[in-house]
Amino acid sequence: MTIIKNSVRSIAQILIPTDCVLCSVPVASTERRLQADERAGTTTAAWLLESARKAGVCSSCLDCLLAEALDELIIPATPPRVAPRCRGRRPAQPIEGGTARCRGCSRPLISEYEWCCTCRSASFSFAGACALFEYRGRARKLLGFYKFENYKPLAVLFAALLCIAYVARFGPAPIVPVPAQRRSRAHRGWDQVGVLAGHLSNSYGVPVITALRRSPGDSSQKTLGRTDRFSRASSHYQLAGQARRGGCRGLPTAVLVDDVLTTGATASACAELLRSAGVEAVQVLALTVR
Ligand SMILES: [Zn+2]
Ligand SMILES: [Zn+2]
Repeated sequence: MTIIKNSVRSIAQILIPTDCVLCSVPVASTERRLQADERAGTTTAAWLLESARKAGVCSSCLDCLLAEALDELIIPATPPRVAPRCRGRRPAQPIEGGTARCRGCSRPLISEYEWCCTCRSASFSFAGACALFEYRGRARKLLGFYKFENYKPLAVLFAALLCIAYVARFGPAPIVPVPAQRRSRAHRGWDQVGVLAGHLSNSYGVPVITALRRSPGDSSQKTLGRTDRFSRASSHYQLAGQARRGGCRGLPTAVLVDDVLTTGATASACAELLRSAGVEAVQVLALTVR
């Protein structure tokens, strides 16, 4: 009987994490945090707190994570929802203002204009890139748990954060997940960006087009230098699904979604394919930039 009880408890802890993955303190209930906010005269979006709780991130760590975002994330009081009639019908309207960011890699600019020194010499097939966090600190730790320790509950929080940026910047344009390398997907048994796209679609109504797939025999780009990444990236991806059959022709905007933006080589190769399939402009939305 005890064995069964313990097994049920372990399964419950995997499904609904009780301790924060970052600081190990018990994840307080959303109600308790909301009551504390009310006493302090502040407000927190209950839906985002709930997403963090489901992902195993306590409310204090969520606050710290949000403070590390590259742009201030304006959190709506209720979960964003893309209305079915809007999906993909009109072009995305990127918002102006906020921190000036490089159009290629999304890093904050200091004294440069539009492009950072590194990206100025490159040519990208996408119109602009937006990353939520730099690849360090809490964002890097969380992404490490998600990708390398297969801690899937974090997808709930990542999708919520991506959706806030998506709605603010790219409106109803369809997203296209960057497919995982075949070998890593076979090894892990899942596609981390594909899972995020699934959450964005199911929880927030974000339109998703599976327009890309990895080429047979593709390899990892991790160990390659900048020049090699750019020259080889295009051979790693192919058009798939409706994009192959002309279903993307005339689409004003598509938003490539990835977990890490590095040199922009992958995003540029994918954007080039999408443009060859008839998409007019490609934007990039990534969780982190390294
Ligand atoms: Zn914590
Ligand atoms: Zn740049």
